[in-house]
Amino acid sequence: MTIPEEMDALVLTGPGTFEVRKEPVPHPGPGEVLCRIRAIAICGSDPEIIRGDIAGYWPPHYPFIAGHEWSGEVVALGEGVTNFREGDRVAGEAHKGCGYCSRCLEGRYNLCRNYMKPETGHRHYGFTNNGAYAQYNAYSVKAITHLPDNLSFREGALIDTAGIVAHAMELTGITPGGTVAVIGPGPIGLIALRLARALGAARTIIVGRKPRLAAAESTADHLVDFESSDPVDTIRTITGDFGVDEAFECSGALGTFNQAVRIVKRGGRIGLLGVPPKDVVEELPFAYIVANEIAVFGSKANPHVAAGVLRLCASKQLPIRDLITHAFPLESFGDALDTFVRRREGALKVVIEPHGPEL
Ligand SMILES: [Zn+2]
Ligand SMILES: [Zn+2]
Repeated sequence: MTIPEEMDALVLTGPGTFEVRKEPVPHPGPGEVLCRIRAIAICGSDPEIIRGDIAGYWPPHYPFIAGHEWSGEVVALGEGVTNFREGDRVAGEAHKGCGYCSRCLEGRYNLCRNYMKPETGHRHYGFTNNGAYAQYNAYSVKAITHLPDNLSFREGALIDTAGIVAHAMELTGITPGGTVAVIGPGPIGLIALRLARALGAARTIIVGRKPRLAAAESTADHLVDFESSDPVDTIRTITGDFGVDEAFECSGALGTFNQAVRIVKRGGRIGLLGVPPKDVVEELPFAYIVANEIAVFGSKANPHVAAGVLRLCASKQLPIRDLITHAFPLESFGDALDTFVRRREGALKVVIEPHGPEL
């Protein structure tokens, strides 16, 4: 495969400013491969990074290339790569730990102690290291997984998002035949409904606001509109005052942590996936949580779940294709971002294709 020296890339040039311009194509180092990026989904964290709300951290510097929910094909191998070949279709993952700190050795590389220290080998692609809003990028083989033939590149770009849900459900567990409530009907919440079902939940409940609840209609057994009814009372009524077995907070909005505490059964489990803004702080019923043995799991990223999620998608147990509502070329990034942020035309997942659509 011929690899050009220059590529188109979406470059963040300062807080809130970006342009599509020519950049050199990166070279893969030892243990890395160069990937041709075929699809990147805009993540809920991207607008914050692009605005520069936490500049100095994400991104650590300007110019910077963001983007972390991607799929593509391997076009060149760095030194020592044996498990990938040129032409392999792959899906990406944002985190790559240093590989040798105590947390990485435990397998919890999403909690790597060398976060933001690239000299240790740590990478958080699209956050602390250049990412996928470009035609090419170099990735560690630890951060890519083979994409099954029956999944499109667009679907491959959603594996990072689906993995967020899979990791949270690994932490909390799902009760076979139980009831799961999901707060927040965005893409993560919609995937949570579907994955809970695939993992054995018999009944699902979604809490949200009218326009977005419609997207959950085909998956959830009960739609709870928090603007027209109190979600805690409604879910207590639906479950005969038993409560749900597991609740997943996927919005990061104020008040939802307390809702989750009040809707789970005694001994119930809560997974927190939504990332709240810094000013969202809740007072929690300490004694109630103790007396009812409620377990709370904070959940960050998606360590080593990609292969399993890809198998669930490939076997159609976890359909995700319909969540991709829009696709744009890289040069229309501004339009794509606006579509995503304003949820124009019912936008859920908006995908960028730097080499055009897959044929
Ligand atoms: Zn993401
Ligand atoms: Zn580490």
